[in-house]
Amino acid sequence: MSRIHILSSRLANQIAAGEVVERPASVVKEVLENSLDAGATRVDVDVEAGGSKLIRIRDNGAGMAPDDLPLALARHATSKIASLEDLERVSSLGFRGEALASIGSVSRLILTSNANETGSEGSSAICEGRDMEVLVKPAPHPRGTTVEVRDLFFNTPARRKFMRTEKTEFNHLEEVVKRLALSRFDVAFSLRHNGRVLHNLKPGGSQAERQRRVASVCGPAFMEQAIYIETDRPELKLWGWVGLPTFSRSQADLQYFFVNGRVIRDKLVAHAVKQAYRDVLYHGRHPAFVLYLEVDPGQVDVNVHPTKHEVRFRDGREVHNFIFSSLHRALADVRPADQLPEHALATGDGQVINTETGEIREQGGLTWGAPGASTGATQRDAAYAGVGFGYQPQAAPGQSAAQVAAYGQLHPELPQQHAEEDIPPLGYALAQLKGIYILAENALGLVLVDMHAAHERITYERLKTARDAEGIRSQPLLVPQSVAVSQREVQVAADNTELFQRLGLAVDVAGEESLVIRQIPVNLRDSDVELLLRDVLADLIEFGSSERIEAHLDEILSTMACHGSVRANRRLTIPEMNALLRDMEETERSGQCNHGRPTWTQMSLDELDKLFLRGR
Ligand code: ADP
Ligand code: MG
Repeated sequence: MSRIHILSSRLANQIAAGEVVERPASVVKEVLENSLDAGATRVDVDVEAGGSKLIRIRDNGAGMAPDDLPLALARHATSKIASLEDLERVSSLGFRGEALASIGSVSRLILTSNANETGSEGSSAICEGRDMEVLVKPAPHPRGTTVEVRDLFFNTPARRKFMRTEKTEFNHLEEVVKRLALSRFDVAFSLRHNGRVLHNLKPGGSQAERQRRVASVCGPAFMEQAIYIETDRPELKLWGWVGLPTFSRSQADLQYFFVNGRVIRDKLVAHAVKQAYRDVLYHGRHPAFVLYLEVDPGQVDVNVHPTKHEVRFRDGREVHNFIFSSLHRALADVRPADQLPEHALATGDGQVINTETGEIREQGGLTWGAPGASTGATQRDAAYAGVGFGYQPQAAPGQSAAQVAAYGQLHPELPQQHAEEDIPPLGYALAQLKGIYILAENALGLVLVDMHAAHERITYERLKTARDAEGIRSQPLLVPQSVAVSQREVQVAADNTELFQRLGLAVDVAGEESLVIRQIPVNLRDSDVELLLRDVLADLIEFGSSERIEAHLDEILSTMACHGSVRANRRLTIPEMNALLRDMEETERSGQCNHGRPTWTQMSLDELDKLFLRGR
């Protein structure tokens, strides 16, 4: 008797299911993707007990004819590809023809569908028996499909054991729905858990409708503290919402990246995003974003692994650069004006208009500061520089340092009243609190500024600008340092001599597997340059770019800026404070100090009124 036998189709499917169906969330992903592939414009997801008891997904897609139902449940049966050439340009989310067969082998599955444009004569199929024979019978259903999955893993106890609590499983499942909902604004989604509706997302293609969906999926707080970006390059487009650094999170749980409409998790993309936030994010915090990359389909392979959401770009280096530079620019450009709530724009005549409710309110109490407390907007270039501070910032172009230093002392008294449209975003200083905070008044109410944090960022940005203008100063090593590396690393170093030179580093090839460092940036003399070089080479190999040297040099400048900045407990005059506010408005990344902490915050009159239970 032969020892080798053919597996029953149920067992074969169960083994295959191990790859596809890990938990209820994977079922939802597969079934929802089928609905989208079938052209549905509405999908309703209904689950019980975190999906372990019931997952029912109903769509209004193309549906299936009765004869197709058994095939849909068979392994390696698909309507999406027919040949190897099709695989090259597959645009559907699935194509392996395994999902339904796998799900059916580890649950009680009922498939009900109708492919007719009109009428409700559908049919349903149930898997029964050990070899997955399928029973088809008539069942009423409008055009579209309903997939009902009960008692997941009822016949595979080992898998069932791996399911977590109902809540955890549901969270995973909800995440799947969120991702797909963010990938298809044109499709309506609903999600119900144990009879409660948790999401009901209307379809729509306008910007306002998209924003509404992002707000409802990611939370309104994200939308309020995110900026919309859109950058185009031939064959590349990036658009979406990036959270301001102040909206950072303790976990990387609000990060959505789509490539040509598919959600992906990719090291190259993650690295580019992280690098873009490097200078503004508090250590250990994670940025939040919903981003869409559109690439020529020939430039990207999205089918590397269907469940791992990986992609492979033909020109990874260019994509990395594009993502990095788009985000870096957008984040640097954030100014206090962008961070004020959009729905409370000041109108020119002493009113505040709420663009959400349309309500217009008289703006009272705008003059409660000390007389002479405010500076005119035209005097914005005055600097607090040098008025008794430890560090002297650079003079603005066209100003001598002496002019800058003298200004604050010579012109403290400035016009007190100004039309509201002249009020700059951070307003005018009123007073200093405990030698730490500046209190200022703007069109919306009260502004609080951490003066050390703010000054530190301004100084830091100036040091960086000066360095960029003058170049990095470098010095030869007394004893050149040999570094043993791989042949690949030698090659990469040789290809990047120009980059190294620009960064003040002279690295020569000394042998097949050896490099020698001859010259280093002055500021790095106390750093472990060998380690830095190794890390840079590793980055260059993996991502085609590296910002490590800049990051390290920036860190040193940041420390210098920190020591050189206004310390707490220093009394500032009103003009000095106003000059600091004006500088903040003009400085890149001024919303965060060098360590990513916020430098200022706004308390609107509304919030203050609430605090005092006023007018409600
Ligand atoms: P794949 O999606 O890889 O083709 P599946 O096992 O997920 O494999 O589905 C098998 C086939 O069943 C699909 O190719 C499709 O023709 C059909 N099908 C599955 N779900 C639906 C649906 N919701 N609407 C219409 N057809 C469907
Ligand atoms: Mg599928």
